[in-house]
Amino acid sequence: MESRSLNTPPVIIPRPDHNISRVNISPNAVKVLYRLREAGYRACLVGGGVRDLLLGREPKDFDIATDARPEQVYKLFRNCRLIGRRFRLAHVQFGQEIIEVATFRAYSGEDSEDSDSPSVERADDGRILSDNVYGSIEEDAWRRDFTINALYYDINNFAVLDYVGGMADLKAGLIRLIGDPAQHYHEDPVRLLRAVRFAAKLGFRFDPETEAPLHRLGHLLDKIPPARLCDEILKLFLGGSALQTFELLRHYRLFGWLFPATERCLGHQQQHYPKTLLIRALSSTDARLAKGQPINPAFLFAALLWEPLREQMRQLQAADDLNEHDLLQTAAEIVVQTQIRHAALPRRYSLPMREIWALQQRLMVITGKHPQRLLTHPRFRAGYDFLLLRADTDEQAAELADWWTRFLALDDAGRIQATQPEVKAKKGKARRRRKPRSRKTDPAAPPSPKT
Ligand code: ATP
Ligand code: MG
Repeated sequence: MESRSLNTPPVIIPRPDHNISRVNISPNAVKVLYRLREAGYRACLVGGGVRDLLLGREPKDFDIATDARPEQVYKLFRNCRLIGRRFRLAHVQFGQEIIEVATFRAYSGEDSEDSDSPSVERADDGRILSDNVYGSIEEDAWRRDFTINALYYDINNFAVLDYVGGMADLKAGLIRLIGDPAQHYHEDPVRLLRAVRFAAKLGFRFDPETEAPLHRLGHLLDKIPPARLCDEILKLFLGGSALQTFELLRHYRLFGWLFPATERCLGHQQQHYPKTLLIRALSSTDARLAKGQPINPAFLFAALLWEPLREQMRQLQAADDLNEHDLLQTAAEIVVQTQIRHAALPRRYSLPMREIWALQQRLMVITGKHPQRLLTHPRFRAGYDFLLLRADTDEQAAELADWWTRFLALDDAGRIQATQPEVKAKKGKARRRRKPRSRKTDPAAPPSPKT
């Protein structure tokens, strides 16, 4: 691999010598490949699709690379949109499925044969801001991130083309950046996160030169626009290997650049509690994905930012005279505002996340009509599941979770009974908007459930 360079001819693995078959490729991707070829263009499957098929895994999506320009791709498909500024791409849409079609790009951007194209735009720190210089397939291979992501399946002869030694790394289980690692991380720091994501997802090791800069370059993530970081966070934690990804992110000191407040809590706390809650949340995410069950990103964010919320509530309580409800809402606002300075947290996630948090207080009122009414809350299930998660490490939460689990198992009559007998005796207790009497315990922890 070290001896390879831009001018080395590719290793060609003919159809009989690899396991990629058209029946395993999405029919829509095959359609796009053939349409491009019929129009006289070169068309290859590339990236995760080829990598995962060679590994016998099911690809998440199918990316196509071609020598057709985005506008030429656009003309070939009715269902096509051109997107992206930094990288101009064609998206061909088939119902829910999007096939991404990218034009071969030049490697360095400096010696492009195409004088019409806008050139590579760089920030002072070397980050590539836009890169729409088109090139040959060889150049395209060299500008990709990892060797295992730069294999091409050519629809012309069904061969796999390997320009950068990806096949050997795939067999050896190695994540290796193409070219000079430090430079490549500087050009696009998101590659730090991608490296970790692929290592976790595939169970691969790092090539030592690819690994070394990981420990010390986390600070580059500070320059990445928050929206892009948010996209990447979702990929990191919703790819089926969230737990392993989390462990690696912490190991390489990258996690703190995504969730600084959480990292501080994890670093400070001597107890295992905060980490345990997170680990349970991440492993249950992985387990759900493995079973094909849906995932609610808001739930994951609620877990990732739970400890900062508790910390913030403790601080506010010491300084301010807020009732429980306002205490939580004020703390939640501060936590969200702090977080979005680093990675975006769109409202479609932050609002349900805050509801899940608020439900932790509302679930504490287990008398009268309140519990029955709470069942109709759109976020009840997520709130209850979050309580169960806390129950693993918090005795008071465990008692409350038990109560709710028993309550849910009852029929209507049973539920009325369960909430009624002692209502009057306890009237006035644990009202949401009432200023709590002296509470020496943890403000974020509910008082023991009282019926
Ligand atoms: P996944 O299984 O997550 O889809 P993937 O490898 O296909 O993994 P994509 O984000 O879909 O990842 O990107 C497709 C391909 O584009 C990659 O395999 C890689 O070749 C190239 N690529 C993506 N992001 C970068 C980047 N930041 N720098 C260089 N090449 C990239
Ligand atoms: Mg992909």
